[in-house]
Amino acid sequence: MPELIPWAGPALQGNESEFVQDALASTWISGGPYVDRFEREFSNRNDSRFCITTSNGTTALQLALLGLGIGPGDEVIVPGFTFLAPANMVLAQGAKPVFVDVDPETWCVDPDAISRAITPHTRAIVAVHLYGNVCDMGRIVEIAREHGVALIEDTAESAFSKWNGRAAGTFGDVGCFSFQATKTITTGEGGAVLTDREDLFELMSLVRNHGMHPDQRYFHRVVGFNFRLTNMQAALGCAQLEGLEAIIESRARLYEHYVRRLSDMPGVMLQRFDEAVSPVVWTLAVRLDPEVFAPRDAVIELMKDRGIETRPGFYTPNMMPLYEETHLPRADQVSREVLCLPLYPTLSHEAIERTCDALNSLRGCHAIQDRLSA
Ligand SMILES: *Cc1c(COP(=O)(O)O)cnc(C)c1O
Repeated sequence: MPELIPWAGPALQGNESEFVQDALASTWISGGPYVDRFEREFSNRNDSRFCITTSNGTTALQLALLGLGIGPGDEVIVPGFTFLAPANMVLAQGAKPVFVDVDPETWCVDPDAISRAITPHTRAIVAVHLYGNVCDMGRIVEIAREHGVALIEDTAESAFSKWNGRAAGTFGDVGCFSFQATKTITTGEGGAVLTDREDLFELMSLVRNHGMHPDQRYFHRVVGFNFRLTNMQAALGCAQLEGLEAIIESRARLYEHYVRRLSDMPGVMLQRFDEAVSPVVWTLAVRLDPEVFAPRDAVIELMKDRGIETRPGFYTPNMMPLYEETHLPRADQVSREVLCLPLYPTLSHEAIERTCDALNSLRGCHAIQDRLSA
């Protein structure tokens, strides 16, 4: 059995260990100077006015909804094909996620579907930038403005990707990020919100820290939570930002290698990036034509047999009893066909060759027949 190629892996090749040791030695292990530094550098890097770090990407989304005052009776538009944290946080606020369909090629939310879903109860739109792609921010910003609804960007999978030269996560009222271990940069667990709005920055800063103002200890101004990132995690993040150019460059090189191998492979459709998008690709996601390949979940098993870990696309809300059923024909189909291949800075080009060879060998029914008769 060849050595396992994992689906993801963090790139800890810079000052990660040194900075974390430094945070520990300083005895500032909850808040501390690395948190302030990381917030400053992350907002600078994205050309945003304000950054608030959070304990993870999910609390970043919750903080955005709390900052915007989303609650019972409100509707929030969420794409039908996404990691479902944004929908779950809308439900946790007592509001209603309204699922809309996606584009069959970019897999991002379809602006026309957003327009059709707006009602007098709509308070916000969550645009989820998938796998390094960026949604059509020209259209979506316009729709939000026209209807006077807030715009949240879930940028957990597309940190540092750009749309017309501007950073994903800086188009709406709040951009939410995740620094979980598999994400483009990591703090182990962690997240952040970006905003240019001072009022939102002030309210979200309060909510992150028990609703207490830093100048008035134990005096609660609003209902708050503890969504704080630790100094040790932020130290890890500062080292990741130091090495960011190398991380982005290696992701780009590995992506190009995949494109060379996969763009002409029958039955494989790469995710499409619009001309306006400069992606920092998070994972190499493809759609597999079910006429050419075995069913996607069988392909995952067969890839595993060949020592390669892959991941399926997200289930749509229609596939889980937890959520209300909605007409999402394109999201449902994309969901059944998407396969995510390994792509992270420490991945070797030889591993990409092995992955593409393995995928290529799975075209046609023979692959599944072989497995059944094995
Ligand atoms: C990873 C992810 C999240 C959640 O981030 P955590 O840090 O794991 O809480 C939210 N939305 C999307 C689209 C994600 O991919």
